[in-house]
Amino acid sequence: MDRINIAIDGPAGAGKSTVAKLVARALGYIYIDTGAMYRAAAYKALINNLDLDDQEALTRMVQGSAITLAYDTEGNQQVFLDGQDVSVDIRTPEVTRSVSKVAAVRGVREEMVRLQQKLAETKGVVMDGRDVGTFILPKAEKKFYLTASIEERAGRRYLEMQSRGYEADLEEIKADIAQRDQMDREREFAPLVQAPDALLVDSSDMSIQQVVDKILEVSREGSE
Ligand code: C5P
Repeated sequence: MDRINIAIDGPAGAGKSTVAKLVARALGYIYIDTGAMYRAAAYKALINNLDLDDQEALTRMVQGSAITLAYDTEGNQQVFLDGQDVSVDIRTPEVTRSVSKVAAVRGVREEMVRLQQKLAETKGVVMDGRDVGTFILPKAEKKFYLTASIEERAGRRYLEMQSRGYEADLEEIKADIAQRDQMDREREFAPLVQAPDALLVDSSDMSIQQVVDKILEVSREGSE
């Protein structure tokens, strides 16, 4: 099939990254987790003790940062911040709690979107995030909006946190996810919203493989 771009958006914990990585692997495409880039920015802001309400300082910080992506032999994405691998550091609960605030800053997003659009220029990417189909790649050939019930998403995040060795509390995770979704949906610039031409996939009662198969089936339609 011709090389296309595939956009996968949706709320926190819907399984976007897992699914996007598998779809990319099946097609021989590059997988781009745009959330990791916002996480790298939030991580840098935290270690530099920046005021998360200071939009100008956050914008300047991002403009003066090098956020780059690399891939290991398994196709897992690694994130480099100013030359340092921060792939693990960006997954802490502290970063997770702060990231939506940093991601709501227009100047931060403008920098990120420029980088993300460049990565997709040659096509053959599966990009996951919140505004891929609506803003980063509005012309992506295939768009999906992946969601699941809040209970299901919180439950999956709970297991993931436990497997990473973090203490987890299900009710707390549910509240954190709900708050992050609300901030992502209500921000002024490029909020989380389903693109009119995106296919809604509710994964509440689907296995990862079923979601991957659905996305592959639809992605291959019309481009065989
Ligand atoms: O995908 P992940 O949960 O790692 O994303 C972390 C945060 O980054 C999201 O909650 C959102 O605030 C922000 N984000 C965004 N736009 C994207 C991807 C992520 O605003 N395209």
